[in-house]
Amino acid sequence: MLRFYVCEEDWSNLPADTPLPHEILTGKGPIGIIGTIGDCQTRACESRWHALDFWPLYVTARMKMNAKLRFVIFDWGDTLMSEAGPLDVPMADWPDVKCIDGAHEVLSRLSKSYSISIATNATVSKHNDVLRALGRVGLKQFVREVFCFTELGYKKNEPEFWNAVLAKLGARRDEVIMIGDSLEHDVLAPMRFGIRAIWLNRKQEGFSGTESIQSVRSLREVPALLEAG
Ligand SMILES: [Mg+2]
Repeated sequence: MLRFYVCEEDWSNLPADTPLPHEILTGKGPIGIIGTIGDCQTRACESRWHALDFWPLYVTARMKMNAKLRFVIFDWGDTLMSEAGPLDVPMADWPDVKCIDGAHEVLSRLSKSYSISIATNATVSKHNDVLRALGRVGLKQFVREVFCFTELGYKKNEPEFWNAVLAKLGARRDEVIMIGDSLEHDVLAPMRFGIRAIWLNRKQEGFSGTESIQSVRSLREVPALLEAG
C-alpha cells in the first residue's frame, strides 16, 4: 500500500503531469508519502520497494518541470554601466556616466517578462547612489530592487547575500538567474548557492573549471538565451 499526499490531499491517483501546487513549489506545503510493506518475498512487494525509490525522483522531476524563471539579477559595474571613472567617488557623482552597449534595450525588453534587480559588490556607492546612477542613464525605471554590499554588509560570495536577495524578492533559487561580467563574483559565487548564472564574457576568456558555464559575448544575446530556457 503506497499513498502520495500533497498539501494534505490524496494525489495517489492523479496523472503524473498534474502541476504541483504553489505551496509545494515555494516550500510552504508538505509532501507526504505513506507506505506499508508486508511480505518482502512477494513480487508485489518488490515493486513497492521500487515505488518508494521512485517517488523522490518523481517529485524532483516534477518540480523541475514546474520551475519557471521569474527574476533576472544583473551586476552593475561593467555589466550595465561603465566603471571607467574615479573609483573612490560614487559613480552617480561622476561628470560623465554611461551604459554598457545594449543595456537600455535589453532591460526594456526583459522587464516586460521578468522582475529585474541589481546585485553589486561596490564598496563606495550606497543603495541610493546606485539608483541615482541608474537614473542618469535611464535604467532606473526597469529595476525593482538593488542589492548592494554597502547596505547588506555581505558580498556575492557569501550565503547571507543570496539569502537576503531571495527573502526580499520572495523567490526560490530556481526562479532566479544572475548575469554579470565577473566569472568569480557573478557566476561561480551564485552557482555555489544553487542560483543559475550567465557570464558576460566580452573578451571570450577561457575557463578551466569543471562547472558548466553559460556565457554571452554581449548583453544583446541575453534575451534569446533566456527565452531558449
Ligand atoms: Mg562587474
